[in-house]
Amino acid sequence: MKIIDNIKELKEEIKNLKGSIGLVPTMGALHEGHRSLIKKAAQQNDNVVVSVFVNPIQFGVNEDLDKYPRQLDKDCALCQKEGVKIVFAPKISEMYSENKDNLTLICPPYDIVNKLCGKARPGHFDGVCSVVAKLFNLTKASRAYFGQKDAQQLFIVKKMVLDLNFDVEIVSCPIIRDFDNLAVSSRNQYLTEKDRKLALNISKSLFNMKKLFKEGIKDTRILIDASLKIMEGLDVEYIEFVDKNTFDFQKEVNNNTLVLIAARVPESSTRLIDNMFLWEAE
Ligand code: AMP
Repeated sequence: MKIIDNIKELKEEIKNLKGSIGLVPTMGALHEGHRSLIKKAAQQNDNVVVSVFVNPIQFGVNEDLDKYPRQLDKDCALCQKEGVKIVFAPKISEMYSENKDNLTLICPPYDIVNKLCGKARPGHFDGVCSVVAKLFNLTKASRAYFGQKDAQQLFIVKKMVLDLNFDVEIVSCPIIRDFDNLAVSSRNQYLTEKDRKLALNISKSLFNMKKLFKEGIKDTRILIDASLKIMEGLDVEYIEFVDKNTFDFQKEVNNNTLVLIAARVPESSTRLIDNMFLWEAE
């Protein structure tokens, strides 16, 4: 396995690879969610490239860029174990020029970014799309692997690939949960014991909505009220229902509904997201 921190060497190594390339873009602090993406990439491709880059342009000014967990040695050990060929972990200066106002960015349509996570995080998805596009160009990946955990991101990246004719297949991977059903996340490291207990109520609400939907409840108001009760003590940013194919909001849920939640836990002020298809077994 090669650990590469600069673009010149990456390009040379990519040229030397034979067969298909599966790319797994990450911000590091790798966990079981990332591992599942890497495993799928290894099943479907001759070579797996994992990028580890805490992308500054997708963080807002008051967000956790500085404290975001960085543990490259540990990440590389995980990648090595999974048979990854290249870990690309560039410095910021390798990816962006000094002047952050002088970058060409990919900006998805306003309607899609001005809702859900994008509403609370202006510019976030421009940053995501721009770095992902760079990684597609640099790695020449035939497939790229993204988690359903970041459902809006997955939707937006798929749209970008379609709209801009990128020659890459986007493969979506299911949400990996911990033993207690908390969706695994690099940010779970921030949680105190008390926070983690409260955070469990996010997935609990999702599973409860799924159960209510099975019992015939379709009114989003009823589902929201039940969820807010379960999530008491959390600072809920949104509970929203969208059509999984369009991301248009829904007032009444159906077999295409994806329900998404973002909430902060009080002690560490950690922002967590999770989502669920209401009709699918999980
Ligand atoms: P991140 O390092 O948080 O930017 O995540 C990198 C990739 O891993 C993204 O495509 C995420 O959606 C995916 N991912 C993160 N957490 C999970 C999870 N619990 N289950 C599945 N995929 C995940």
